[in-house]
Amino acid sequence: MTQKSKSNLVQNYRRQNFSPVRGKGVWLYDNSGNKYLDALSGIAVNTLGHSHQTMKKNLKEQIENLIHVSNLYGIPLQEQLGTKLCSLTGLSSAFFCNSGLEANEAALKYARKFAVIKSVRNPKIIVFNNAFHGRSFATMSASDKKKGTKNNFGNSMPGFVRAPINDIRAIEDLSKKYDNIVAVMLEPIQGEGGINLSEVKFLKDLRMLCSKKKWLLILDEVQCGIARTGKWFAFQWAGITPDVVTLAKGLGSGVPIGATLVQKPFSRLIGAGEHGSTFGGNPLAMQAALTTISVIETEGLLNNALQMGQKIVKRLEAGLNGYEEVIEIRYKGLMIGIEFAIDCSDLVNLALAENLLINVTGGNVVRILPPLILKKSEAIAISTKVISVIRKLINYA
Ligand code: PLP
Repeated sequence: MTQKSKSNLVQNYRRQNFSPVRGKGVWLYDNSGNKYLDALSGIAVNTLGHSHQTMKKNLKEQIENLIHVSNLYGIPLQEQLGTKLCSLTGLSSAFFCNSGLEANEAALKYARKFAVIKSVRNPKIIVFNNAFHGRSFATMSASDKKKGTKNNFGNSMPGFVRAPINDIRAIEDLSKKYDNIVAVMLEPIQGEGGINLSEVKFLKDLRMLCSKKKWLLILDEVQCGIARTGKWFAFQWAGITPDVVTLAKGLGSGVPIGATLVQKPFSRLIGAGEHGSTFGGNPLAMQAALTTISVIETEGLLNNALQMGQKIVKRLEAGLNGYEEVIEIRYKGLMIGIEFAIDCSDLVNLALAENLLINVTGGNVVRILPPLILKKSEAIAISTKVISVIRKLINYA
């Protein structure tokens, strides 16, 4: 059942006419047993696909032992995950919460506290065109107005100034215009904004500028992090280390989790009682994330994301060659976007009719974010089906 008129749910989602009840690997099943190829992973969440054996086993054991304890007490699995994420990112401290927006709220609180310590009044944070950081007041304000409906909720939170990505001159110009900038917040690859990649040079220049100006460099890896691009984190393609990184989505492979990682000495900016979360860092979520990371390592999923991404994109490029409605295919690993010159929203339903789950963002970019456990035959099936529905759309249009 989807949106029926007698539903007691708030009608804040445009749901498709599809209700999966079971999943296995990259496949989802409805209650009639029909099988759907999941090329979206719950929007970059199901890193290990559905019902992964190791995840099932570890979560079952964890549920039998302990689901939740308060952060008033020591949580060894939280220490373990914090240590692992710090070693993978090169940062020094971790805070755990439950979602992407919460991870970004914490990052923004770091930036604001940094301003207070530096006695900067009315601090400004540089954010970007087409950015999406979440739907709380702060993260909605940091997001581009094109993403979401922030204008429907009254005044935005002040303190954000905006620039285009891949334009270091625009950032330098802002630094001349404002003497109260304290941080830059960027998705290394914009997801909701249409799979827009920051260039390596831009990331390197931004890192240098932030260090020179003593601004915090905050990278939102909620969608592009955790092996999706073929490296643990998208910023690693540029060989830089940010001051703050936010994670969520794929970190727990479906169990809600968020994380804010902070570099020394900034990690000491927030002290006891200044931030927290009731559920954040509970043993169940920590187990899910530790298992996700360990399976990525043991099953070689970094390399698989690279290989399968290339396979899909090569086939898409060949199959869509000559279609002038297709502007560009952009990708890094298994984060793939196809930009159209026309509205391509209908592709979602055309794909569903062919038992394929994809997404369209901004009305003209198809988003493909399959689980990282994708096999060659499944990568081929995704590209074949995507090409077929795009041809259908274009021939109808
Ligand atoms: N940041 C990015 C880059 C995202 O893509 C999203 C969600 O799509 C968020 C933050 C917000 O995450 P959540 O929906 O878990 O609050």
